[in-house]
Amino acid sequence: MAYDFDLYVIGAGSGGVRAARFAAGFGAKVAVAESRYLGGTCVNVGCVPKKLLVYGAHFAEDFEQASGFGWSLGEANFDWATLIANKDREINRLNGIYRNLLVNSGVTLHEGHARVVDPHQVEINGERFTAKHILIATGGWPQIPEIPGREHAIGSNEAFFLKELPKRVLVVGGGYIAVEFAGIFHGLGAQTTLLYRGDLFLRGFDGAVRTHLKEELTKRGLDLQFNADIERIDKQADGSLKATLKDGRVLEADCVFYATGRRPMLDNLGLENTGVKLDKRGFVEVDDLYQTAESSILAIGDVIGRVQLTPVALAEGMAVARRLFKPEQYRPVDYAMIPTAVFSLPNIGTVGLSEEEAKEQGHKVQIFESRFRPMKLTLTECQEKTLMKLVVDADTDKVLGCHMVGPDAGEIVQGLAIALKAGATKQHFDETIGVHPTAAEEFVTMRTPVAN
Ligand code: FAD
Ligand code: NDP
Repeated sequence: MAYDFDLYVIGAGSGGVRAARFAAGFGAKVAVAESRYLGGTCVNVGCVPKKLLVYGAHFAEDFEQASGFGWSLGEANFDWATLIANKDREINRLNGIYRNLLVNSGVTLHEGHARVVDPHQVEINGERFTAKHILIATGGWPQIPEIPGREHAIGSNEAFFLKELPKRVLVVGGGYIAVEFAGIFHGLGAQTTLLYRGDLFLRGFDGAVRTHLKEELTKRGLDLQFNADIERIDKQADGSLKATLKDGRVLEADCVFYATGRRPMLDNLGLENTGVKLDKRGFVEVDDLYQTAESSILAIGDVIGRVQLTPVALAEGMAVARRLFKPEQYRPVDYAMIPTAVFSLPNIGTVGLSEEEAKEQGHKVQIFESRFRPMKLTLTECQEKTLMKLVVDADTDKVLGCHMVGPDAGEIVQGLAIALKAGATKQHFDETIGVHPTAAEEFVTMRTPVAN
């Protein structure tokens, strides 16, 4: 049968755009549907605008520390509206770049909400198109628990478009988004409280990293409340919000921001018209080749709920395009040693196993740790400490994990990830000459394991 397209991609986010462009580059006839914004979550309400706000928040400490280097500044004033308008301008520019990337690679762009009507057919804006393969790359959506008053709360999508910076913010959650936004709001001058339901935030990260970040954020005056969760939110006569916690305490705020995970975006997608199955958590179930239970339909990125990171969605998109249209170049995505950063202030950078994971997996581990006051701070009052940690297999000498909390941790860990991917041992680290004077050189000068 002749189809309108070889590949119909639903969702022009990180994964969808990458799959569409590569497939078209391999000679396939490709269409991509996008209902909201080109570039998806990452470009519009994720990585990019988030990082711009983090940069914005960072200036607070730069101004504070400048006096130690002889600078005297007038009173610093921050204008939220300017930051948001400039951010929006940059995102608009990126939307245009994504449009050009797609069009110039020969992909047909359909703007509107796409719905699968049968295993080989998609409907969009009242028109139907047939395709040999359909790729679901519809991403995720913030998930706010069903508590009374949840309509008064916002999620990350709204946070990027607030008209003004709230004076008092409650951030709920203990994952990437909660920690990053708590840093943004606090850095920009809002009185910020982070409420996390467990004992310590960032579950799954190395224990030393979690504790170190807790200490650093507390030093900066961020109010961290663990074992705390909101039972209900009420709007008060003056427009402010009253959050009643499960332990009976009442907190007042101008904004309650939930960052309690993301659900797959499957709204009105029509998957019931196909044999596609969902997993226990509601994400699209795929095999190792991103194949769903319906043979003509594939899925990648956040909607499959594996690793919700842009570079992973990109890798999955590329793998699908290659497998379908350039099989001789196909390589499976390797999910081991995925480096990641939390853009908290200070940053976390991490790759490989945490000490806890390494032990759970049966490794006999040696731990190397260094805590120091960064050189840049020695002329300032700031008492912030950087943490660096290596988890090493005591039997093979292989470095299993690198973890850092400190300025530019994400930048530093990217390079280390290559070393770990290549199977570097602690001896390789020891034999590597440092770059002096940097913080990063500490990773190659840690000699004595700590007792554990
Ligand atoms: P998306 O990028 O979400 O794209 C899906 C697209 O599909 C969207 O554009 C959507 O409008 C469209 N769509 C949905 N349904 C339909 C339909 N029926 N018809 C047509 N179009 C449809 N990752 C990092 O690696 N680093 C970071 O620093 C980082 N920061 C983040 C910060 C925040 C606040 C958030 C929310 C996420 C962040 N992420 C980060 C995660 C990253 O954004 C996602 O992992 C990535 O965007 C997933 O790509 P995707 O292609 O699966 O989906
Ligand atoms: P995460 O899954 O990272 O964290 C969710 C947090 O919310 C956890 O602390 C969880 O607690 C808590 N939580 C979940 N449900 C509830 C509930 N009902 N009540 C109270 N607390 C709850 O999700 P995020 O929303 O922070 O981010 C989504 C994903 O986006 C991330 O996992 C990451 O993959 C990606 N991302 C990546 C970034 C980066 O690379 N820098 C930045 C931002 C997002 P518990 O741990 O107890 O389950």
